[in-house]
Amino acid sequence: MVKIAYWLAGLTVLPRWGPGGNYYDYIVIGSGPGGGPLASNLARAGYSVLLVEAGNDQSSNVNSEIVSFFPFAYTDPTLRWDFFVRNFANNTKNLQHNQLIWRRPDGSFYAGRDPPAGSTCLGLYYPRGGTLGGSSAVNAMATMYPSESDWDPSHMREIFARIEKNHYLSAETPGHGFEGYLHTIMSNASSWEGQEDLMKVLGVASEYLGQKQQKILEHLIADPNALIPARDRTEGVFGLAVHADTRWRRFSSRDYVLKTANAVLPDGNKKYRLTVQLNTLATKLLFQDVGHPKKKPKAIGIEYLRGQSLYSADPRWKSSNKGTPGRAYARKEVILAGGTFNSPQLLKLSGIGPAPELARFKIKVVANLPGVGANLQDNYEVPIIGHAARDFQQPAPDLNAPTCNFGAPDDPCVDLWRQGIGPYTAGTTMNSIFRKSAYPAHDERDFFLVGGTFAIRGFWPSFDLRPLDPPKMFALSTVKINPQSRAGTVKLRSTDPRDTPEINFHLFEENDVGAELDLKAELDTVKWARRVFASVPPPLGPLTPVEPPCFETPAPDGSCDDDLDKEWITTQIFGHHPTSTCAIGADSDPLAVLDSKFRVRGVRGLRVVDASAFPRVPGPFPVLPTFMLSEKATESVLEDADRW
Ligand SMILES: Cc1cc2nc3c(=O)[nH]c(=O)nc-3n(C[C@H](O)[C@H](O)[C@H](O)COP(=O)(O)OP(=O)(O)OC[C@H]3O[C@@H](n4cnc5c(N)ncnc54)[C@H](O)[C@@H]3O)c2cc1C
Repeated sequence: MVKIAYWLAGLTVLPRWGPGGNYYDYIVIGSGPGGGPLASNLARAGYSVLLVEAGNDQSSNVNSEIVSFFPFAYTDPTLRWDFFVRNFANNTKNLQHNQLIWRRPDGSFYAGRDPPAGSTCLGLYYPRGGTLGGSSAVNAMATMYPSESDWDPSHMREIFARIEKNHYLSAETPGHGFEGYLHTIMSNASSWEGQEDLMKVLGVASEYLGQKQQKILEHLIADPNALIPARDRTEGVFGLAVHADTRWRRFSSRDYVLKTANAVLPDGNKKYRLTVQLNTLATKLLFQDVGHPKKKPKAIGIEYLRGQSLYSADPRWKSSNKGTPGRAYARKEVILAGGTFNSPQLLKLSGIGPAPELARFKIKVVANLPGVGANLQDNYEVPIIGHAARDFQQPAPDLNAPTCNFGAPDDPCVDLWRQGIGPYTAGTTMNSIFRKSAYPAHDERDFFLVGGTFAIRGFWPSFDLRPLDPPKMFALSTVKINPQSRAGTVKLRSTDPRDTPEINFHLFEENDVGAELDLKAELDTVKWARRVFASVPPPLGPLTPVEPPCFETPAPDGSCDDDLDKEWITTQIFGHHPTSTCAIGADSDPLAVLDSKFRVRGVRGLRVVDASAFPRVPGPFPVLPTFMLSEKATESVLEDADRW
């Protein structure tokens, strides 16, 4: 009886291995920094690879090309996917968030706590890239080598050096690479000309971190990814590298994929067998040997829907967009790289996940893995804002420069940029500040901050929803390194693969000891920032704390009202670096989804290679670690290539 049931299950998905079938050696789902490089590497190693991507190719969209257009990239409806998340289990707390997004009765968005009558609460806005290149095509491009304690340091440095194409250091610099595919660039001293006010405040911050204030310019152009002993315990101000080329054109995994897919031999034939199938939403993983008495189920292919904007996070989505169904088969392996929200969703829809949740949706269990969709974490962020005693002085305008209008039709600066000149080819004043709070989880720095006359308060589906600040505003926008609050979840909302999952970060839950530590560390950094603000000399300083608000003069240690500060933190906290929902873990870890070779436990021929695989969120920024993970996974997949 068992055998008959097994064969019936198998027959429904038997692959067509013969000529003319839709079959490949490998199928990779998702073209972000996890999937894109892996698919390209496997094709370069000689295998036939199908890369399916739900979005399309926007490589000539300037919003995704020009580094300084970042705010237009993540708000561009042709590039982005809109997720709306919750931070807390307690909905009263969710409703107190400052940046809550609502849908007004006329269909437009409202941001804030006091929506017009009849509005529907959507949650906190959490953008992702839904395009070729994934989120690396819309992100802020900060490129940061993580802490060595995040993984095996010796091999990972080697991997970084292998993939990097560094444009800002001399080619002898140890620990970096100059021949890889991942372009990195950093501003030089010219970006700081005329920025004396900004440098003054950053200089005060550097002094608090043990550096010499007088050398602030040197600090601001120092490499944050340098191979130096004790790097992860070294506090101070540094430069900030981004994934872009010398023209300040964004580099994303899209570029590597297209370079591989479009490469030709001298005879004009394709050099590599990489098929990139865009506008294709993978809806289910296909298995054979489900229920086999001796063998684990083997992933053999995927089902998909073909058509534009089929996923409901796509702002152009319509429920009438049904798409055309199809199937593709993998002779060797299927590799899932849909990102931290989508990979667990697709695993669950395919029968891999916590059995009780699958049962609720009547999904047949292929492998009971309780960790799928658990362990969600983030480098959550809170800006600490002050107002100076006068406006910040900006560099004197160049009267001969053309007037840029940020990509509007006939923007003269876009034409100049295409020629490799003009304002859009200049660097930025982005910087890195590393601090170790009084409550680090490990003996390492646990905060990244960027200081500037802009505040990173969160994200909005439309850029004009953001709060505006006066020219005397300065913010230290914080990013938590090594957060201990790890109770977040990605759960199915329905069995419709076009539906988004329910996402809750479950931050600072009661009795969560790690989360308590995080909150103490946040509070400690708020106080530190206030000490910096108070120490800025006149005429620019001292800066008055504005967010979190302090209605009296703060105490010399930066304290104001701890309860009020904590409340502010929880009403302002946001993130955009989700990881760890399909985490690698030891055999003894009940929440481990993957083994150390990215293989999904309980099945064969299936791996997950994206930011969901990290056991803990790596460093302050996940994109470089995800590119590196992809390279590492290439080694693991190729090691097994002859097995199938
Ligand atoms: C606005 C923003 C700013 C950011 N800034 C930074 C930063 O400055 N530095 C940094 O380090 N990180 C940053 N990040 C985060 C970083 O970009 C991500 O961590 C990284 O891209 C994750 O890579 P990934 O491969 O896991 O997933 P993604 O890059 O999200 O790629 C997943 C891809 O899979 C596709 N996909 C999903 N499901 C399916 C399916 N079922 N079928 C077919 N295709 C599917 C998606 O369309 C997408 O293209 C930012 C992210 C955003 C959104």
